[in-house]
Amino acid sequence: MRFYKVPTYQYECQNEACGNRFEQVTTIAARRDECRKACKKCRKRKIDLVPAAPSIGDPLKLGVTKLPNSWTDKLKEMKGKHKGSTIKTERTLSK
Ligand SMILES: [Zn+2]
Repeated sequence: MRFYKVPTYQYECQNEACGNRFEQVTTIAARRDECRKACKKCRKRKIDLVPAAPSIGDPLKLGVTKLPNSWTDKLKEMKGKHKGSTIKTERTLSK
């Protein structure tokens, strides 16, 4: 059984006034490069990698036609979690 992982990483701007979140498809080796870049929103260099599980690619699109039920269920669960930004987006307004 194989997992088809699309190397998508999530980043978040650590500038509290900004809080920009975005995903970037990159390689494991280059995943930290994004952190050295300036935020596209606030232009500050405060991008940090969000430690989240990488998104799972759609196995059907990748040519896999049959999957064990246990795996498709797991996949649905994971996709559900990663759809949109289900990771806490609310920000506490701390002074
Ligand atoms: Zn920012």
